[in-house]
Amino acid sequence: MPKVKINKSKCINCGTCVDICPMGVFGKDSSGKTCVVNSSDCIACRACENQCPENAIVILEE
Ligand code: SF4
Ligand code: SF4
Repeated sequence: MPKVKINKSKCINCGTCVDICPMGVFGKDSSGKTCVVNSSDCIACRACENQCPENAIVILEE
């Protein structure tokens, strides 16, 4: 099962990953920051990794 991580020091909170992930892996935390909410639903399509403008997303396949 892939693991999804956001490098918080790179993320600019643009929301692209929230919009494009077909599996709803990303969301916002209570302070409005983009975060991973459903890592276990990731199908490793890598759309987020390819489209994040800051290269802040890492998909680790196990
Ligand atoms: S696409 Fe990248 S920079 Fe934008 S919110 Fe997601 S992780 Fe952050
Ligand atoms: S790799 Fe695909 S399914 Fe996994 S978090 Fe990124 S956009 Fe969503």
